[in-house]
Amino acid sequence: MANHIMSTYKRLPIQFQRGEGIWLWDSENKQYLDALSGIAVCGLGHAHPAIAQAIANQAGLLVHTSNLYGITLQEQLADGLCELSGMDRVFFCNSGAEANEAAIKIARLYGHNRGIHSPTIIVMEKSFHGRTLATLTATGNRKVQAGFEPLVQGFIRVPYNDLAAIQTVAANSNDVVAVLVEPIQGEGGINIPDADYLQGIRSLCNENHWLMMLDEIQSGMGRTGKWFAWQHSDVTPDVATLAKALGNGVPIGACLARGKAAEMMKPGSHGSTFGGNPLACRAAITVLEVLEQQHLVAHAATLGEYFLAGFHAALSGQKGVTSIRGRGLMIGIELDRPCAELVEKALEQGLLINVTAERVIRLLPPLVTTVKQADIIIEHVSELVREFLAG
Ligand SMILES: *Cc1c(COP(=O)(O)O)cnc(C)c1O
Repeated sequence: MANHIMSTYKRLPIQFQRGEGIWLWDSENKQYLDALSGIAVCGLGHAHPAIAQAIANQAGLLVHTSNLYGITLQEQLADGLCELSGMDRVFFCNSGAEANEAAIKIARLYGHNRGIHSPTIIVMEKSFHGRTLATLTATGNRKVQAGFEPLVQGFIRVPYNDLAAIQTVAANSNDVVAVLVEPIQGEGGINIPDADYLQGIRSLCNENHWLMMLDEIQSGMGRTGKWFAWQHSDVTPDVATLAKALGNGVPIGACLARGKAAEMMKPGSHGSTFGGNPLACRAAITVLEVLEQQHLVAHAATLGEYFLAGFHAALSGQKGVTSIRGRGLMIGIELDRPCAELVEKALEQGLLINVTAERVIRLLPPLVTTVKQADIIIEHVSELVREFLAG
């Protein structure tokens, strides 16, 4: 077979055929435990019966009509998301990058409304916001940007978890209109900021009339043990973006906004042909229902503590392990050396994990993971780490 796929990905030599909960099976019927959830997407695991049923039912009723008309399921999903988040309005799209694009456009409208002709958004080092031109510019990783210059104007970068750096920008620029930040950096290596960081950003945004914009694409939808990671910090953003787990694998993104930020978009300002179509919204509504009915957000919090305790017990004192950290089911184990090869080793042994930022083993297991399955993951990953460091 000729390879007609553009080589944007370095893929592992394996193809999955079906899944059930935390399990996957490949084309040779070998079974795998998925501790990555398709990069934090399948929060409810694979082939969840309620989601499968909802998608099938909706496909038989109506998949798409376009945003030229009202979409009841979109309104229903927006109601649900606003109730959970304290936000006022939602724009629906199809991916994380698009959700961030909407946030960036809102910030620019907000700036122009205030008479700022060159609105600038503060973004962070080691951040990840997507692969479109504006979002790769916002991303704090040169590898993502290289070759795609000229980049988009209107971003200024500061170190993550550094309030003083933001203050310095505030003192030196009149063009800043917003701060865009991940409450916990995912691709950057499961970086958890100090407890007062988001509150500090909230205060700076209030003082300077900036929008506080949180990228919750990886950390949202219950993953960290709250519906949204900002809810650990007793703040509410002006803009928040969601995607990944929102549809449990059906592509859907959302940009949520509150107060003035929610009033920036006017008819004609922005749009998406597929955005918020009945199929995607029905899937996402069902995701919210299942998370709620099965108390999975609280479960993610408890199980996250269990994972951390387990890894600390299994790997404490292990030379070469420099940090074990996480919140809920966003877990990172940092080593003192690059460890990308662990991904393939684990795969051979039937376990899906990820390594990000070169030295950080990243686990994003589904929220439906049981304590027994957590034990398997803890034991297996710890053994892999010990072997790797010994070799
Ligand atoms: C995955 C991710 C994105 C990009 O989402 P896509 O759906 O791939 O466009 C943006 N921000 C964060 C924090 C992410 O984890």
